[in-house]
Amino acid sequence: MSHSISFHDDPSPEYGPDVAIGTSIGLRPEMACRACRRILNTSFDTSGQLRHLHPTARTSYDHDPDPVPSAEVAGVARSCDFCSDRYPVFRLDSGPVQALALGEDDSSVDDFGTTWSACITCTLLAQASKSEALTQRAVTRMGWADPTIAAEAVRAIHAGVVGTLRPGRTLLTDVHWPHAPITATALPKVRDRLTTLLTGPDRMDLLQVRQRQAIAASLQGGRLYAVDDEFTDLARTAAVDLPATVLDVEDLPAPHGLLLWAAAVAGGVCAASWASNNDGIQIICYRAIGGTDSINDATAVQALREQVGWLIPVDHQLITARRAITSADGALAVMAATWLLIAQRTGEAVSVLANRSIRKAYERTRRPTPEVRLVRIRSRQNTSRRETGSGESRQPQAQRQWISGYWRSQPHGPGRALRKDVYVFAYLRGPTDAPIAASTTVRILASERRHPKPQ
Ligand SMILES: [Zn+2]
Ligand SMILES: [Zn+2]
Repeated sequence: MSHSISFHDDPSPEYGPDVAIGTSIGLRPEMACRACRRILNTSFDTSGQLRHLHPTARTSYDHDPDPVPSAEVAGVARSCDFCSDRYPVFRLDSGPVQALALGEDDSSVDDFGTTWSACITCTLLAQASKSEALTQRAVTRMGWADPTIAAEAVRAIHAGVVGTLRPGRTLLTDVHWPHAPITATALPKVRDRLTTLLTGPDRMDLLQVRQRQAIAASLQGGRLYAVDDEFTDLARTAAVDLPATVLDVEDLPAPHGLLLWAAAVAGGVCAASWASNNDGIQIICYRAIGGTDSINDATAVQALREQVGWLIPVDHQLITARRAITSADGALAVMAATWLLIAQRTGEAVSVLANRSIRKAYERTRRPTPEVRLVRIRSRQNTSRRETGSGESRQPQAQRQWISGYWRSQPHGPGRALRKDVYVFAYLRGPTDAPIAASTTVRILASERRHPKPQ
């Protein structure tokens, strides 16, 4: 079958009677394949019959497309619509782009719509109107011969997108990057870059402009916390048993802050920021982007750092006095557990200085030297010695073990007539340098109630 492919950019094609009047390219819901979670392209044959097609890939698919609206697919597998890179960063908008495939017996219109997911490299190429470079990159990555009909079709499509590109771009927040660790000492720079992203021109579906400005202001005035790997494990484990907990501002380690866990804690989220205001506590969750495992192109990583940064917002929640956080709340539950563990002095926060280069940069702009609080598990050696008895010298414990926490009803007030619930938190027993026994778990034992205030 010999198809000749031509390209046209007609915003109002005549479809057959099966297509409802008023259905326009931009209004049709984006569709994804239920089997492989990829975003599907659409195509119409001469009778106006709509078909959904897998995007072009290096290898062929082992199944037919199973189309459902992409909003119904958890963890949509987006890829760059230009070069098939697995980690697109921005959504670009163009005029409607279609390719007309003419055959001897049939013809079809491949409808690519008006929105394009683009990796950082293709974003910059498209915005610089470098259509031919876009095509070269795509053809190379697909391993296609050029010129061929397929390569010419891609070239025409890219020219169509670049020629009708709309201003601006939208940050994609549903792409799951593999976790990329961020060091505690880099946190001031990460915070500054995030502030620039939030106050910058790039659009975000997740947040409105006013919200973004409020978050950026609270980030700049907030404290920075980096939670070490052991404490991250503790918080993650504790969150599994988190009782329904209502938080207020007094429970927070600071009214505003940015907290970075050593690993992703739930749904790829590895950081959260919070801001306290009259409405409650506004919490934003972030994923890390640009791990070197996912991009092995140093230029692309640098462009990503410059254009986006290290963290992208993926969720936001307002916590009010009426809303209890439970173990079902994913990253929010880990956030609450982390705060509770800090408030109960299970951890200690030691100050670490930012990288020397970051400190220098702050000095140049006459800003106070940024401070990061590194949250780690408090050493309990004194308690340990007391518990192992006096006199006899014992073998040092080979491992540290979690001691379960529990609620205790404690008398207080005049004549010690009143009682209140005090939570005695889990802590570690054993020498500081010993590994933590993996089999032991932390239990936060509590009924549904507000956790007590520190004395
Ligand atoms: Zn599929
Ligand atoms: Zn790309």
